Amino acid sequence: MDMKRRAFAIILTLAGVLFISACGQHKSIPADTVLIHARIYTVNPQEPWAQAMAVREGKIIAVGSDKAIAAYRGPSTKVIDAGGRMVLPGFVDAHVHMMAGAAQLEQISLNDAKTIGDFQKILRDYAAAHPEKQWIQGMGWFYSVFGKGGLPDKKLVDEIVPDRPVYLLAYDGHTSLANSKALQAAGITRETPDPPSGIIVRDPATGEPTGVLKEAAGSLVAGIIPKPTPEEELSRLTKAIHYAGSLGLTRLISAGADAERVELFDRIRQKGDMTTRFTMARFVSAPVAPDIIKILEENRKKYSDDWIDLSTAKFLLDGVIEAHTAAMLEPYANDPANRGQLYFDSEKYKESVIQLDRLGFTISTHAIGDRAIRLALDAYEDANKASGHTDARDRVEHIEDPSAQDIPRFGKLGVIAGMQPLHATPDDNTLTVWSGNVGPERAQRAFPWHDILAGGAILCFGSDWPVVTLNPWPGLQILLTRQTMEGTPEGGWLPDERLTLEQAIKGYTMNGAFAARREKTEGSIEEGKLADVIIISQDLFRIPPGQIGKTKVLMTMVGSKIVYQDPSWEDKETAPFKNKEK
Ligand SMILES: [Zn+2]
Repeated sequence: MDMKRRAFAIILTLAGVLFISACGQHKSIPADTVLIHARIYTVNPQEPWAQAMAVREGKIIAVGSDKAIAAYRGPSTKVIDAGGRMVLPGFVDAHVHMMAGAAQLEQISLNDAKTIGDFQKILRDYAAAHPEKQWIQGMGWFYSVFGKGGLPDKKLVDEIVPDRPVYLLAYDGHTSLANSKALQAAGITRETPDPPSGIIVRDPATGEPTGVLKEAAGSLVAGIIPKPTPEEELSRLTKAIHYAGSLGLTRLISAGADAERVELFDRIRQKGDMTTRFTMARFVSAPVAPDIIKILEENRKKYSDDWIDLSTAKFLLDGVIEAHTAAMLEPYANDPANRGQLYFDSEKYKESVIQLDRLGFTISTHAIGDRAIRLALDAYEDANKASGHTDARDRVEHIEDPSAQDIPRFGKLGVIAGMQPLHATPDDNTLTVWSGNVGPERAQRAFPWHDILAGGAILCFGSDWPVVTLNPWPGLQILLTRQTMEGTPEGGWLPDERLTLEQAIKGYTMNGAFAARREKTEGSIEEGKLADVIIISQDLFRIPPGQIGKTKVLMTMVGSKIVYQDPSWEDKETAPFKNKEK
């Protein structure tokens, strides 16, 4: 070894010694917060379980036993005693629509209507309770409530609310029901032609609109409803964000219609009210207009931090199976002339994907039918070939009914599968309308999350709020049971598609972080990561899977700040948030 190299080696050694002694010292700088007496499931495969963790300046600085973490306690360290409860990394909901969800918090929710009687009662109660509302809006009705055809009629609403316009979206957001007043306000008559990509459903005998508006036809009415003021929007969006925190969600991936309003989210952040991290996608169409690309590029430059990240482009490639609008390879079982339709020309869509990919955007595509899913996979494959990269993290959203040969392609191509467990709830709507539309052969591959995972894919989970509840715990349950919350059908629907609890939790944490390109700083409880953690009411590993949906979040911490704590915990002896002395 020559002198020069030797001197260099000595310097390296010295640096190493200095580094080690610095590490030895860092315990003497106390943590801001320690969380102790917990059953921490870390989602870190190297060290899956721990009792305690220490946090400083928003980050986790140590994870380990109560004894080891005691060394990080100083006189001003805040001590959170979890009382033996389960602690998890904060959950990621990988598919939400926040603006719509925030609006829905103030509107009628028809999710619980199982019969036409329920539907009308919910409507009557709401109308009576809100005489001040000039328009009555709501969401969440199921096709199955309305019998065999799966579609309601305006008469059902006119009977209850004849004097004010009413506009009610189906649970999937793809079909709506307007009453006579609303149709009148929008000027929709039997002479009104169907808009592009939309259908005004008409009575076959009279030609009179029934009030049901499919896809883009809904905007004929939605477009004339008076808009809330920006202040009203800001206030209800803030409420929605805090609501997410109360459910244990520390990052939300917006699947569209929020990025367009990113300035509202930014105002909430500037006011110090932002308590959940956001990854956002902006809706684009194919071909992508140059001014939209310009906006995407400007937004990406402006919003690319831990709190707001806007770097995804989202395509809506088809509709939904329930309304026969999802694009299928073969016709619907009960509608032999119809195989749904793609919303974009295939070639234009593929070219747009390649173009956006080359510009470095992450691409997300709504694809429910097997034809749309195949096209999305083809486009991503082409884009990967064209650019030569292997880490595009492009996603397909929903994937309700893929063809058998496409299932292994997710793993092979490195395409992330974004799925919504509650959409697979095997209730009447799914087992009759959904399954009846695709027929028995294709129904065997309904929501095949296990098969997609077995093919080596990264699977992340979301709600599609406000399509279903934002609460992730019922979703986690159904990943394990493939049953309704009431426990039907016995043994589960297509039980081979059930996941283990570990797989399901990973899908709601680490994999969501990966989809958001945040896996180095989020998704698990590990030294160096952001302190985004939750304490929950029950130990998921020690209860039957059918109980998981009842989980309550007792505390949500985001970047070491407690953004939510369960009110029932505040005054008790066991309150974990008192600054207990050693
Ligand atoms: Zn969605």
